[in-house]
Amino acid sequence: MAGRLHGVVAMDGPSGTGKSTVSRRLATACGAAYLDTGAMYRALTLAVLRAGVDPTGPDAVAVAVAAELESVTDPAAPAIRLDGEDVEAEIRGPEVTGAVSAVSAQPAVREALVARQRGLIGAAESGGGGIVVEGRDIGSVVVPHAPLKVYLTASEEVRAARRGAQDRKAGRAGDTVTVLADVRRRDRLDSSRKTSPLHAAADAVVLDTDALSVDDVLDALLCFVVERGLVR
Ligand code: C5P
Repeated sequence: MAGRLHGVVAMDGPSGTGKSTVSRRLATACGAAYLDTGAMYRALTLAVLRAGVDPTGPDAVAVAVAAELESVTDPAAPAIRLDGEDVEAEIRGPEVTGAVSAVSAQPAVREALVARQRGLIGAAESGGGGIVVEGRDIGSVVVPHAPLKVYLTASEEVRAARRGAQDRKAGRAGDTVTVLADVRRRDRLDSSRKTSPLHAAADAVVLDTDALSVDDVLDALLCFVVERGLVR
């Protein structure tokens, strides 16, 4: 182990930058907890779809806010439960991916989830522990005091290729043209919404991962946490 992480590492960036893979590995390497906030938005979107209500309307907010979510923050076995059911596989499917940006753009949904996220982060930090949190607004909104904020980027083409490979590995259709269209659509929606749009916090380290392997990114992250005195 690289030493134990203390405090929060905020990992933001658009889809397909490798955030989940490197965040989980960083947490494992530093004995920290790991929180995938995208999984929380996805699980609430699944609740909305199951309820059969319009993801852009007020009924979606009511369903999302009432849903019972449980996030397991162990990087060795992260999990998300909706009303007690493990929904990890289902939230990665095309229906949820197609509707999640609409649900996540609703201010009341964000408010409810940011409160839950802060609760989970506080629990991990209590007693001097550390947590790696990934999403779109972690450094800018959820934990503006995070001692390390990283914003991962990559070109659309590279991100679509990574996302497609991930989909195919999980047994889902992942042709590059469809995945690229989805990456572009979600980038546009996530970056243009009124509440907490996707952007790098002013004090984030921006890392372009186009030419970097997962190991390269992990090495860079380990250097950052050591440089900032976050592992001991
Ligand atoms: O990271 P992932 O692709 O699973 O995120 C799914 C969606 O959840 C994003 O496209 C975005 O709409 C939303 N999201 C968000 N804020 C976060 C994490 C995810 O709005 N912190």
